[in-house]
Amino acid sequence: MRKLITVTLMSFLLLVACSDKEPASETVQSSEEAVQVVNLNLGYDNKEESLADDTVPEDTAVSEESVLNEDDPEDGSSEEGYSEELSASDMAAEESVSEAAAYENGSSETDETDDTVETVTPAPENKAAHSGIVVCIDPGHQGKGNSAKEPVGPGSDQMKAKVSSGTEGRFSGVTEHALNLQIGLALRDELERRGYTVIMTRTTEDVDLSNSERAMIANNNNADAFIRIHANGSDNASVSGAEGICQTKKNPWNANEYAASRKLCDALVNNYSAATGIKNKGVIEEDNMSGINWSQVPVCIFEMGYMTNKSDDLFMNDSSGQKKMVEGLANGVDEYFGR
Ligand SMILES: [Zn+2]
Repeated sequence: MRKLITVTLMSFLLLVACSDKEPASETVQSSEEAVQVVNLNLGYDNKEESLADDTVPEDTAVSEESVLNEDDPEDGSSEEGYSEELSASDMAAEESVSEAAAYENGSSETDETDDTVETVTPAPENKAAHSGIVVCIDPGHQGKGNSAKEPVGPGSDQMKAKVSSGTEGRFSGVTEHALNLQIGLALRDELERRGYTVIMTRTTEDVDLSNSERAMIANNNNADAFIRIHANGSDNASVSGAEGICQTKKNPWNANEYAASRKLCDALVNNYSAATGIKNKGVIEEDNMSGINWSQVPVCIFEMGYMTNKSDDLFMNDSSGQKKMVEGLANGVDEYFGR
């Protein structure tokens, strides 16, 4: 009996000790984030799209947003035509919703050793339903960053570097720009296989394209969705997970695309997380990303995971992991377009 009491008491103490640990690690996490907020605010000019590339602390959304709202946007709103286009394609989507299930059981685990990224989903029967839908994919960054400045949005006097060099896999050794390109090209192939028309902002490392120029490529091609592929980094190796980033509903330049962009981000992160098992960090709304602010079409920066986290980094640079990533993103696109 005494032994039982001792064991019970010890279990209780162990429980208390464990539950004490959680707040402690959260404290570490938030001070880490606080440090990053400071870094982001101070090093803003040198680190283009740094909020996307690194951890995005929730509270920066508020501070950056208030800064941006002081701007006087000259080119505040976009054409209303987009929402009409969307609803037209949404209606067409209704016809083939029932076929969406055709994707469900498609994946299998063959080809583990193959280095190339390819999905093995059977050809979708509703390929024709995607005909005429234009998806623009922007593999984030490029071989060499460009620190020259450009306005953070049309007419803004707030400047940011044109394009930064991105983060790097701490465990894989792979650069973010190389990973983004690899996944971007694989996603293009998968979306084309599903019947979409795909526009790439880049297909090689050897380009010099600012973030606003990338958005203009999506605009000029009347893209129905603009997906910007990125991977994250943090000083804290335990931080992991995927997230989408879009504008706030108060964005001075493209608030009218907020609802569609948010829907796109939600569809991408939910399907991606389901397919990969990578933690779902949800969607963050920001108004200080040049490539979002210059976009006049539904846009999502998709952060696939943390290259500074061992599990995420190795998963993202493994061929079987990449198949799931591409499949999850393509399923997200299907869900966004409702078919
Ligand atoms: Zn990035």
